[in-house]
Amino acid sequence: MKTVGTVQELRQFLRPLRDRRIGLVPTMGYLHEGHVSLIRRARKECDVVVLSVFVNPLQFGPREDYDRYPRDLDRDARIAEQAGVDVLFAPSVEEMYPEKPLTTVTVSRLTDRLCGASRPGHFDGVATVVAKLFHIVEPDRAYFGLKDAQQVAVVERMVRDLHFPVEIIPCPTVREKDGLAVSSRNVYLSEEEREQATVLSAGLREVAEKVQAGEMTRSRQVIDYLQGRISSKPLARIDYVDVLTYPDLTPVDALQGQRILVAVAVHFGSTRLIDNVILPEKEEVPCSER
Ligand code: AMP
Repeated sequence: MKTVGTVQELRQFLRPLRDRRIGLVPTMGYLHEGHVSLIRRARKECDVVVLSVFVNPLQFGPREDYDRYPRDLDRDARIAEQAGVDVLFAPSVEEMYPEKPLTTVTVSRLTDRLCGASRPGHFDGVATVVAKLFHIVEPDRAYFGLKDAQQVAVVERMVRDLHFPVEIIPCPTVREKDGLAVSSRNVYLSEEEREQATVLSAGLREVAEKVQAGEMTRSRQVIDYLQGRISSKPLARIDYVDVLTYPDLTPVDALQGQRILVAVAVHFGSTRLIDNVILPEKEEVPCSER
């Protein structure tokens, strides 16, 4: 595996490989099994796998965790190499933003709800850095996790609106044995918070079953159930619980007959966790088969 820190080095590396299928996995590093599942999928489907590791300051709000976001590039490089990455692109902030950008990408409507409502500017930061990475790497395919379902919807829409010649591959959420969605931010959780955080995946699993069994037919029932279930945990502070169509992210009342996203964001102490389920479900990746 080659590691490069500049756009020029990366382009030089990729120049002789342009007729091969190039897969990009964009991440903020501190790699875990979720990232690895994306890399493995890219490895299976592409000739050249590019992994980017970049904690993008543009997508963090002023009171968010940019400074304390976990970083360990040596560890990331070992994991990446083992998972089959060909080239690790780990640029500095100065390399990606030599000056404050005057050009940014805004995807409207899809970004004014869910995480976009609680994190103003977040998706402008995401869309801008993803657009930059697409121009730098020019991948044939790019792999994104459905743990960030709104991000997938936003990136897919940007790609369509701006005619990026790339195929977005959404990948299922990887979970710990007890259901907690794997996340770089899980390292912030205390033991007690970690234990109570399983309520997110447990509650989502329960509503998924109730909706699929026809026991819940309206968004309100799902939202009320999840709010009650999550609030039963004393350390949980709900940011949002919402039900929207997917990938259009429009409010919906009757649940049958369309793809819906049930999404939650909940604070445990200073850590904000998100999780979701898209119904009707496709298979998830059990830990043992990663
Ligand atoms: P991040 O480093 O958190 O920005 O994540 C980089 C990519 O990995 C994004 O496309 C995420 O959606 C994806 N990802 C993060 N956690 C998981 C997970 N538990 N399962 C699958 N994909 C994930």
